[in-house]
Amino acid sequence: MYRTHNCGELRLTDAGKTVTLSGWIQRIRDLGGLLFIDLRDRYGVTQLFINPEQHNALYQQAKAYGREFVIQVIGKVSERSSRNPNMVTGDIEVIASDINLLNASITPPFTIEDDTDGGDDLRMQYRYLDIRRDPVRKNLLARHQVARAVREYMDGKGFVDVETPFLIKSTPEGARDFVVPSRLNEGQFYALPQSPQTFKQLLMVAGMDRYYQIVRCFRDEDLRADRQPEFTQIDCEMAFVDQEDVLNMFEGMVKHVFKSVRGINLSDFPRMSYADALKYYGNDKPDLRFGMQLIEITEIVKGRNFKVFDDAEYTAAIVAENCSEYTRKHLDELTEFVKRPQIGAGGLVYIRCATDGTYKSSVDKFYTQDDLKNIAAHCACKPGDLILILSGKQHKTRKAMSELRLEMGNRLGLRRKEDYKPLWVLDFPLLEWDEDDKRWNAMHHPFTSWKPEDESLMTDNPGAVRANAYDVVINGVELASGSIRIHNRAKQELMFRTIGLTDDEARYKFGFILNAFEYGAPPHGGIAFGFDRFCSIVTANLDYIRDFIAFPKNNAGRDVMLDAPSDIDLRLKNDLGLK
Ligand code: ASP
Repeated sequence: MYRTHNCGELRLTDAGKTVTLSGWIQRIRDLGGLLFIDLRDRYGVTQLFINPEQHNALYQQAKAYGREFVIQVIGKVSERSSRNPNMVTGDIEVIASDINLLNASITPPFTIEDDTDGGDDLRMQYRYLDIRRDPVRKNLLARHQVARAVREYMDGKGFVDVETPFLIKSTPEGARDFVVPSRLNEGQFYALPQSPQTFKQLLMVAGMDRYYQIVRCFRDEDLRADRQPEFTQIDCEMAFVDQEDVLNMFEGMVKHVFKSVRGINLSDFPRMSYADALKYYGNDKPDLRFGMQLIEITEIVKGRNFKVFDDAEYTAAIVAENCSEYTRKHLDELTEFVKRPQIGAGGLVYIRCATDGTYKSSVDKFYTQDDLKNIAAHCACKPGDLILILSGKQHKTRKAMSELRLEMGNRLGLRRKEDYKPLWVLDFPLLEWDEDDKRWNAMHHPFTSWKPEDESLMTDNPGAVRANAYDVVINGVELASGSIRIHNRAKQELMFRTIGLTDDEARYKFGFILNAFEYGAPPHGGIAFGFDRFCSIVTANLDYIRDFIAFPKNNAGRDVMLDAPSDIDLRLKNDLGLK
């Protein structure tokens, strides 16, 4: 028997017991002839003690061990003379009487402590050592808890976990496909699924009624800090539902996960239209942990010979409470912030609303005190507040405003990690114009249905058609997206035509689903959650989703541990017909 207990479980009540533990040596300290070893496993750390006066041979043997050696120890649990309140096992130590070396270790390339000295790539190259560290292990355990809670809820609601294939034909989620060459069909390729979208719809046609899967998806996109080429979704679909049914079902799921993993009771999710999200927050995933809504002032600032505002399609303000005393330096920083190429604003106008009721602005040349007072009143700005203004093209300015708002939220400490403000964003446009290809694209994906009342716009004004699509947003992060689907062949064909596919192309690419719709497809809809992100949000560890993935890729899409992607055998290449 390798162990009677694990390294996280012994307490004072175990004092006197003879136990066997197995684990890794976290640290060895020789304090004037008394040897202390911190022994670690998945469950915790237990202090071992060896007294050379009692066990000199054992002392000599153990002294030679190093960090990460794997040992088995037999000893007696005893109360510590100086207890460590920071450790759950801190009241006891195990007085070793025998130690078995199970395996030696060379010195690890970085320290296996909470605050390690290892850089990102080194830690990924030795991910198995990184996972020995508490923070990484905790994230993986949290991920397991989230998955368990999801399965518990879904199972309770009658959802069936069905696996769908990985070697498929391209699915249209808008990213580039990863492809796999076929040996048996030389010159042809499978695509890896960007999502199981079409399969889950076919399962509804098949009468499975309620499907879910915690499933890997693959998207060959340009990498960003929080993107992985393979990531996991909680993919869900239901038959005989309208939008309201789906929203209720999955609001329940999110609440269940927060409750069961963190003990947090989320309140009911407010709902906001896409149009309002843009109008009041400048983007479609508003962070509702703080107010500071965008206030349009396009018209009231015109006519004072300030050309920037006079010519602007759109001018908007946000009010930063109690910031009228912001220093020149602060304002310069904010100006630099909005002028960065990623944001691209031309400049930033401010109005300080001093506590004595006077106003001071960066455009004093053009605006009188009365003008400024008028603007301040329109913005419900109080003495002591600061108004920040951007102007330009509406779409771009709203985006810039949204960034500025979030930046101010950060600076003012209004975006607290543990404060959860979920919402539904609804009524997305069905289509968006692709300027490069000069055609309409499905905003969500081309299987999304439209509002019946917007039907006539499909031909007259496609850009104005609203979709039966919805997102779950928490704290400015998109957690899930879904829609009520088209389940009728003619409508699906209309959609394909609208996004520029000829009937032949549509049949070639999607004939299987068009056909299926002719065999009694039920009304259906669903949603998919980004599972890795869900884990990072629930645990409030929002930095990187890769922290929740056991073996992630780095920022260049490489697995640095395996050194993949890599060249393949010439023979294999030949077999695949690749040059
Ligand atoms: N397949 C969609 C996605 O991956 C989600 C859905 O519509 O259910 O975003």
